[in-house]
Amino acid sequence: MLKLHNTFTRSVEEFTPINKKLVTVYCCGPTVYDYAHIGNFRTYTMTDFLVRTLKYLGYAVKYVTNVTDVGHLVSDSDSGEDKIEKGAKREGKTAWDVAKFYTEAFLADSKKMNLLEPDVRPKPTDHIPEQVDMVKTLLDKGFAYTIDDGIYFDTSKFPSYGELTGQNLEELKEGARVEPNPQKKNPTDFALWKFSPKGAKRDMEWKSPWGTGFPGWHIECSAMSRKHLGDQIDIHTGGADLIPIHHTNEIAQSEATSGKSPFVKYWVHGQFIMVDGQKMSKSKGNFYRLADIEEKGFDPIALRYFYMSAHYRAFLNFTWDALAGAQKSLDELRLYAHQHKDESEETIVLKKKFQEALDNDLNMPQALAIAWEAARTCPQLLMEFDQVLGLDLGRAPKEVVIPEEINALIKKRDQLRKNKKFYQADAIRKEIENKGYTVKDETVT
Ligand SMILES: [Zn+2]
Repeated sequence: MLKLHNTFTRSVEEFTPINKKLVTVYCCGPTVYDYAHIGNFRTYTMTDFLVRTLKYLGYAVKYVTNVTDVGHLVSDSDSGEDKIEKGAKREGKTAWDVAKFYTEAFLADSKKMNLLEPDVRPKPTDHIPEQVDMVKTLLDKGFAYTIDDGIYFDTSKFPSYGELTGQNLEELKEGARVEPNPQKKNPTDFALWKFSPKGAKRDMEWKSPWGTGFPGWHIECSAMSRKHLGDQIDIHTGGADLIPIHHTNEIAQSEATSGKSPFVKYWVHGQFIMVDGQKMSKSKGNFYRLADIEEKGFDPIALRYFYMSAHYRAFLNFTWDALAGAQKSLDELRLYAHQHKDESEETIVLKKKFQEALDNDLNMPQALAIAWEAARTCPQLLMEFDQVLGLDLGRAPKEVVIPEEINALIKKRDQLRKNKKFYQADAIRKEIENKGYTVKDETVT
């Protein structure tokens, strides 16, 4: 029985989908104003492990993940510049071109990470009517109000606001950043629709019943998950940084719109990644992305392997040494995946243990350890386990290039063995081993 940790209830719960026939999963995807980094990919890979696990356990899954291509403001509290318009200024392109460029880069990277294709990958720019519709409903129901720069959600009208974070409204008010907009009724109120600034033309703007403007960031996910998965969904994933604002706001506006609760049955959040024991930041220059990893000669799948070294709810520390270790292990596991041993009782035991690891709140470090047990006793199981691991184990392992010097020693040793000079041949074998290589003599039968 699959058990998952639910951020909302802060406990590990048995997974029982709303609709037994189809599990619905939504993952908050990237805002495409820059390249995704290894922290982002940890979240997307966690979701990938989850979707693969559900399928492995026999569930039918509808998986939706978006790319945010409009309206995500630099400050999460609806002020400051739009991230994509800012990217456009930085690169001397239009916001549309910036979004297109980084969407393509993200899709190419996702492929390299062996992430499953979602059933739908919606974009907010294709869902403006759905978002306008939702804002209309929220206004009609009295959950929203209009001020000079846009339409805002009134968080005081939604009593359970902040439940996800375990904070009450008073605490959230106190914790809110300095509020630049005095017209807002509560500091935690957030924009559903922003009006374009007077006298300025944005690259991305749309007509609405309330004037030209663009959607708020949070409403995008609510409208898209509603359209493609319905009012209530089973699993919603994202990075832990999305809990206090983005996901709290998604719950409030989705439940206020539909009148149904809960909007999401299980909230699953991935913890941050550290780099050399430090937080990732632009100033430290440690915002690594896939291109940096490839530049150093690593296979992006080695990063996927590395992610499995910690449980998704634990911090994970990235170092180049750790990645090198992951690459080495991945190559070795691929070698095993090409081997075959006779079926044994062990096969059934290991399959059961593998499933238990997954059932245990998606314990990938444990699942990987079982895969290694399989490598040694029944390697043919590896290809089956790879449905979840996604390590592309069927791929031929990297070819090992043996240096000339070692090849010369091997030839010399072979000659000595042919002449039955075993004592000298053995000395050469030791010499080869001292240089870090192993000699294996195949017995021909
Ligand atoms: Zn989202």
